[in-house]
Amino acid sequence: MNDKKKRSNVITLKQALEMAESHQFAFGSFSPRYTAMIVPVLKAGQAMNSPLIVQISEKELDRYGITPKEFGGEFYAQLERLSITVPVVLHLDHTKALSTIADAIDAGFTSVMIDASEKPLRENIAITREVVHYAHARGVSVEAELGMIGTTDFIETDKDEELYTDPHEAKQFVEATGVDALAVSCGTAHGVYVVRQPKIDFARLQAIRALTPVHLVLHGGSGVPSEMMGRAIRLPGGGVSKVNIATDLELSFLQAIGREERMTNAECLALTASQLEQGREAVELTVSDKIRSFLGSKGFADMYQVQ
Ligand SMILES: [Zn+2]
Repeated sequence: MNDKKKRSNVITLKQALEMAESHQFAFGSFSPRYTAMIVPVLKAGQAMNSPLIVQISEKELDRYGITPKEFGGEFYAQLERLSITVPVVLHLDHTKALSTIADAIDAGFTSVMIDASEKPLRENIAITREVVHYAHARGVSVEAELGMIGTTDFIETDKDEELYTDPHEAKQFVEATGVDALAVSCGTAHGVYVVRQPKIDFARLQAIRALTPVHLVLHGGSGVPSEMMGRAIRLPGGGVSKVNIATDLELSFLQAIGREERMTNAECLALTASQLEQGREAVELTVSDKIRSFLGSKGFADMYQVQ
């Protein structure tokens, strides 16, 4: 465990998802992308009495020019300033470098994702296992990925099926690595659905669940119809308990300030106070809407004995 004094409502991913799975709701894993947008995510969770996850990926840290220390520092500072009492997880999304994982854990992240999904199964197992060993020794949960979750940026519909998570491999992977949560590929994709339509292969999801007790994660939550997501969350035997949502937040922020292009974190911090406020209002509305109509996590904060 790192020496950062954690508040009692900052929990691990494992603690979070156990409760969600047994009560048939899902945690939103929200990526504010800009440090200034951590505030509206936390405020939405508090206002809806909903637990949630704040996340950032290695690629986002790089693209927006943020360090894990800056992101974690802002997260913990705002928890205090806003007197947030709902359960929250600080999660490092898709990461390949072990050094970034170590930096995030030092910065107070309570969950990390190692993504070695492009490697052959044996290598993915070996790398994930190493991260599980390192993180668990420090009281931090681990998510990994098996199969390849597509992006809507390049569309190869014919090859989709080959990238889907194989249920038997999932069982083998979870047993060999001891991972807490598994991102599965079963039809959703990162980004905005324009040409391709979102779909979820429920039979595959059900087969994975039948073979392993690991907590199931869906990436590419932006734009998936809520009925479809609801069915995945309420899957018999324990459905999806974490849904990643990134693109929708940034889109509502940029739209609110009348901008089409994304910016760096420094450019975002240089916006006027009124622009930041407009952006924050839009992001808070988007997060609240996901909590209410998509994840079903509203009101579940009280289930956790952390406040
Ligand atoms: Zn993802």
